[in-house]
Amino acid sequence: MKKVSSLLKRCCIVFLITVLAFSGLAFAAPSAQADTVKTVTIASGTIYATPMYIRDSGKPGPVVMIVGGVHGNEPAGYTAAAQVKNWDIKKGKLIVLPKANKKAVERRTRTYNGDLNRDFPQGKNQSADTALARSIWSAVKKYDVDWLMDMHEGYGYCKRTKSVGQSLIYYPNSTTQTMAKAIVNNLNKGISTSYKKFSLFKYPVKGSLARAAGQYLGVHAFIFETCDDPALSTRVKYQTKAANTLLSRLGMR
Ligand SMILES: [Zn+2]
Repeated sequence: MKKVSSLLKRCCIVFLITVLAFSGLAFAAPSAQADTVKTVTIASGTIYATPMYIRDSGKPGPVVMIVGGVHGNEPAGYTAAAQVKNWDIKKGKLIVLPKANKKAVERRTRTYNGDLNRDFPQGKNQSADTALARSIWSAVKKYDVDWLMDMHEGYGYCKRTKSVGQSLIYYPNSTTQTMAKAIVNNLNKGISTSYKKFSLFKYPVKGSLARAAGQYLGVHAFIFETCDDPALSTRVKYQTKAANTLLSRLGMR
C-alpha cells in the first residue's frame, strides 16, 4: 500500500512538472512578430542583376537603406552589408543591397563599365546614367527611403587629399549632421591613435548615390569610408558598428 501511494505521488509530481513546463512555454514566450524579408532584383534581366533584401518589421518607422559593393575592390562594405541584411529590426524597414555593382565585385575591381558612383543624377530632373544606376535610383524613390548609408573604402588615412579613408561624408542637413557626428564619435571612442580616427566631411562627390539622394530626394544620406590599412575583419567591424549606431539611434535595434 505504501509502495502504491509513493508511486502515485511520483506520478502526480511528474504530471505537475509537465503541465507547468508547457504552460510556461505558452505564456512566457509570447511569439514576437517576426520580420518578413522579401528579395527583389535590381537591374533585373541585365548582366548587372543583383539581389536587394527588404526586411519589414510590420511596424511603422524609418526606412533605412544600406548599400555595399558600389565599388568592387572595397570588400569591407559588401562584407558588412551581407551581415546587416540578417539583422532583426524592431520597427520600420531595413533595405540592404549588398553588391550594388555585382560585376565589379566579382572582378574585385573598382568599376565595371564606368564608375557607378558617378552615374547618379546631377540635376533635379535628371535621370541616372546607366540601367544599373537607374534601377537603384528608382528603388530609393519607390521605397521612400529616409536614411541611406553607402559603404565604401578609401586608401590610407589621408584627410580628403587623395583619399577619404576613415571618414563619414554626409549631405548636410541638421538631422543628418547630428546622426553623422554620433556615428563618428561612437567609432572614435574605440580608436586611440589620433590619425586613425574617423573624420567628418560634408558633400559626397557629385554623381554619387549619397549626393543625389541627399540633394534631390531629401534623404538623410552619407558615405561611410573605412581605410584599407587595418585587417578586413576590423574594417568590417567598423562598417557594422556604424550601421548599428544608425539603426540603434533610430530605435530600430
Ligand atoms: Zn568607393
